Amino acid sequence: MEELKSFIRHVQDFPKKGIGFKDITTLLKEEPQFCRVIDLICEHFNNKKIDSVLGIEARGFIFAGAVAYKLKKGMIPVRKPGKLPAETIKEEYMLEYGTDAVEMHLDAVKSGSKVLIVDDLLATGGTVKATCNLIEKAGGIVQGIAFLIELDFLKGRDKLKDYDIFTLLHFESE
Ligand code: AMP
Repeated sequence: MEELKSFIRHVQDFPKKGIGFKDITTLLKEEPQFCRVIDLICEHFNNKKIDSVLGIEARGFIFAGAVAYKLKKGMIPVRKPGKLPAETIKEEYMLEYGTDAVEMHLDAVKSGSKVLIVDDLLATGGTVKATCNLIEKAGGIVQGIAFLIELDFLKGRDKLKDYDIFTLLHFESE
């Protein structure tokens, strides 16, 4: 994993001062590393029953699409408000200043269906927790959550205690 980690570029003060941004484009452009990430996520969840793979806008789509293809499952997009064309359900969550929200099509998750969430990075956990709420509102089951990166020091995992979380790369400090 240390080798994979070396492909993540740290960009200080992006998109604003004080934020240490984890840039995944430096990993994505390398074929063996990108494929390895997808293979490791799929291996981890291979024995669990999964009906659909869900990706969160925008970088989550990159990983969720590839995982869905490899697991031979459908893929569900969760997007920022106003982007999905048909009837949606919405979940708001708190940011440091203000609120944000995620939306999913009302008919995206069938009742009782088992969903694997895949996202690029776990920071404070607000986005993924809101996504879990969307799945559960629709009657679905969060079967697992996979991240490429987890920023351990932001303790996002504390918001996700009820779920099976798999992270490939942990960063203990900025
Ligand atoms: P959060 O809701 O705080 O867990 O953050 C959700 C999303 O924000 C992640 O899926 C990332 O796409 C993005 N994000 C948050 N912090 C960072 C960071 N330090 N570097 C790169 N992306 C980030």
